[in-house]
Amino acid sequence: MTAICLVGIGKIAVDQHVPAIGGSADWELAATVSRAGSVDGVQSFTDFDQMLSERPDIPVISLCLPPVPRYDYAAKAIAAGRHVMLEKPPGATLAEVYALADMAHAAGVSLYTTWHSRMAKGVAPAKAWLADKTVTGVHICWKEDVRRWHPGQDWVFAPGGMGVFDPGSNALSIITEILPMPIHLRSAELFFPENRDTPIAAHMQWTQNVTGDFDWRQEGPQSWDITVETTTGTLSLHDGGARLLIDGNEVAAGADREYPALYDRMAELVKTNASEVDLSPMLHVADALTLGKRNVVAAFHF
Ligand code: NAP
Repeated sequence: MTAICLVGIGKIAVDQHVPAIGGSADWELAATVSRAGSVDGVQSFTDFDQMLSERPDIPVISLCLPPVPRYDYAAKAIAAGRHVMLEKPPGATLAEVYALADMAHAAGVSLYTTWHSRMAKGVAPAKAWLADKTVTGVHICWKEDVRRWHPGQDWVFAPGGMGVFDPGSNALSIITEILPMPIHLRSAELFFPENRDTPIAAHMQWTQNVTGDFDWRQEGPQSWDITVETTTGTLSLHDGGARLLIDGNEVAAGADREYPALYDRMAELVKTNASEVDLSPMLHVADALTLGKRNVVAAFHF
């Protein structure tokens, strides 16, 4: 088993990372770094530098912090010769992630920009089915309740938090994986609460008749759906990629193992001394924030 340190013990660390590591034969959770959080039975630090100097035996660091603070931790970890796994979206800017990739390459360590939704059960079979198809249109409907998934997390509405593109990047990670052709954004409408710095909703139109609606104000049933029309049939992904239907027939369904699969992949990267750095989902986020028309909507309070 390889020792790993988890940094940023918040919602996603507790919900997904701790159980995924605990259920894996590859990993041993050897330490945590967090100012407020900890995991029972695991050595906890509040200071990252102290952990790096006191635990040279831990070769892998998994960063579950929000994107803005993440770069400084990743740069320090790489400088200390550790392999690094980044939660999505991998950074606050594209350039900082490219810089991390260069640093990791120079240091001879692995860097993994994880995209958990790509590990959803329906995504690989969707990609395989679409590989030889001619796509005529795509629609993404990604509508969830920010109060439920990011309770009280003001960072999502602060600069660099990306607003609705935080969950929207999950949809973008799927379409950049499954579509057999490149697309680029043609227009976007962004909706900013009057008291916030990032959008709470967005409508987007890409080339190749690809459209998307992201909304963080969805109460009741949540929608994480992608529909792909082709000249020979319709493919749809639901539940964030966990369910796949082709022409209405269920192809893949059931429980997902998104985070366990991310840790399997990290074990493989470390073993083979390789990195996986894919910024294509974030490229579309940056394009939407660059090209999008800004509209102001009602103030949002948690
Ligand atoms: P979170 O609970 O707000 O933050 C995680 C932890 O990061 C916090 O508990 C905090 O720990 C630490 N942190 C926050 N701001 C910091 C700062 N400025 N400097 C240092 N540490 C800081 O957020 P989360 O929901 O877990 O999300 C973290 C990442 O996971 C995001 O990139 C998000 O997109 C991704 N993610 C979230 C979800 C979800 O459903 N929430 C799902 C998939 C992926 P301490 O205060 O204890 O240091």
